[in-house]
Amino acid sequence: MPDKTITCQNCQAIFVYSEYEQKIDQARGTAEPTYCTICKAIKSSEAKHPPKPKTS
Ligand SMILES: [Zn+2]
Repeated sequence: MPDKTITCQNCQAIFVYSEYEQKIDQARGTAEPTYCTICKAIKSSEAKHPPKPKTS
């Protein structure tokens, strides 16, 4: 399975989805990524620390 290049849906950066990553995701049953590693990290940190609603 060759490496794939994917365009990030968020920042339009082109990133490599390597053969190794494809194998891991296949083993886990995970779909191929749509976000680059940077956007993925931002999104996961947002999920852990959601913006607090303004109370004042
Ligand atoms: Zn991105």
